[in-house]
Amino acid sequence: MTGDRIIIFDTTLRDGEQSPGCSMNTSEKMEVARALVDLGVDVIEAGFPVASPGDFEAVSCIAERFGDRSTICALSRSREEDVRRAGEAIKAAEKRRIHVFLATSAIHREFKLRMDKAQIIQRAVESVKLAREYCEDVEFSPEDAVRTELDFLCEVVEKTIAAGATTVNIPDTVGYATPSHYNKVIRHLREHVPNIDSAVISAHCHDDLGLAVANSLAAVEAGARQVECTINGLGERAGNAALEEIVMAIRTRSDYFGVHTGINTRKLFPTSHLVSSITGMKVQRNKAIVGQNAFAHEAGIHQHGVLQERSTYEIMKPEDVGYAGDNLVLGKHSGRAAFRDRIVQLGFELDDAALNQAFEDFILLADKKKEVYDSDITALIENRLGDHTERWELSRFHTSAGTGMIPTATVELKCDGKHVKSDASTGDGPIDAVFRAMERIMDLEARLDDFDVRSVSGGKDAQGEVRVSITVTGKQYHGKGVSTDIIEAAALAYLKALNRADVNR
Ligand SMILES: [Zn+2]
Repeated sequence: MTGDRIIIFDTTLRDGEQSPGCSMNTSEKMEVARALVDLGVDVIEAGFPVASPGDFEAVSCIAERFGDRSTICALSRSREEDVRRAGEAIKAAEKRRIHVFLATSAIHREFKLRMDKAQIIQRAVESVKLAREYCEDVEFSPEDAVRTELDFLCEVVEKTIAAGATTVNIPDTVGYATPSHYNKVIRHLREHVPNIDSAVISAHCHDDLGLAVANSLAAVEAGARQVECTINGLGERAGNAALEEIVMAIRTRSDYFGVHTGINTRKLFPTSHLVSSITGMKVQRNKAIVGQNAFAHEAGIHQHGVLQERSTYEIMKPEDVGYAGDNLVLGKHSGRAAFRDRIVQLGFELDDAALNQAFEDFILLADKKKEVYDSDITALIENRLGDHTERWELSRFHTSAGTGMIPTATVELKCDGKHVKSDASTGDGPIDAVFRAMERIMDLEARLDDFDVRSVSGGKDAQGEVRVSITVTGKQYHGKGVSTDIIEAAALAYLKALNRADVNR
């Protein structure tokens, strides 16, 4: 391994969860945390415990379950109550961290906090000291650091390190920095803060100008040894720096950066899929590293080159990021062992019950379509994620539609695994009729904001994946469904979204 290890701090569960419509329940957060631990993330920022009892619960469950494998971090404002809640939430973790923040830029001091420089320093120092009572690993972030006067930033960093901060994070909270500017800020701190070597410098960048990853790498060049990032670049507004891009840039250009990470890159693609599936936030096809087209060569001359010698046009191998393309793998006669091997290679860890369920789903699918691709298997497994937490299940439905007819649907749902309820409705089309019938059964009124269909793999018998986004009483929910029947896929997606809304009412 080359040079220093860069600490990968993942904030998908905190900053990422702040993206509109991306909120997750505790069991979904646990699923993401498990994937992050398997991926080899060093620090998992699990949430903001003081924000709500739900956040507190999620952070403490993650701390209890995974705190021996990754460091579990809780976010806290510089307020006594916040710090104490954060400390309580992570206490079960063997490896734990409190991340305290306080804004330092003139604009935040004046308009948000109404505090002067001396008050800011005093508050920051007190909070770091209090956090140290709960754990030895304490991170401090001067929020909006990039827009803070350099002299004052140096002073804050020096005083918080002296108070016990072991990591100082320099956030570009509003995505304002450019790579050489951010590099200079980090260098300036290294040159002007006398005790800087007693703490790790961390980068935290937002993508408002599309520079989050470039800025983070510029910070690494300047000596930052922790990078804060999220899977798929999820996060507030334009998002955070994408973990997969940072990790693969450091790895592919280790000749240049001279550093390494502890990430198991073969889990990048499956983890990206999982997060996209749970949050409902789609990954664009041409997204670096984890997009469906990231390794597709279209131009004839490129294809020819790759066939002769892959490195002519490929700087990374698809298998190094666990890319599941459209490679044909299994058919109806593939056995359970072959199926299980494939699942492990795709990066999933299923217990026996989940494996049996997935195998049953696979056999049903193999009956309907001749060739089953990796992407089909991924879709099947993701389709079942979080199933156990769902109150309403689709037992059956029937639709009728056609030119000159009124589209109608009859739907039967099972509630809590026992009561069966059914209803019927008309609609603008068969899918709309199914949606309306479900709303009648569950007594929920939803507005459909987004409806998206794609085919999971190639061919006429391919599975269709439907994603919906709905609003129920002002809140947004997502759902995804997969089936060879597009109406069924839509019904499953809509039901998933309605179930999420149902839990919250
Ligand atoms: Zn942020």
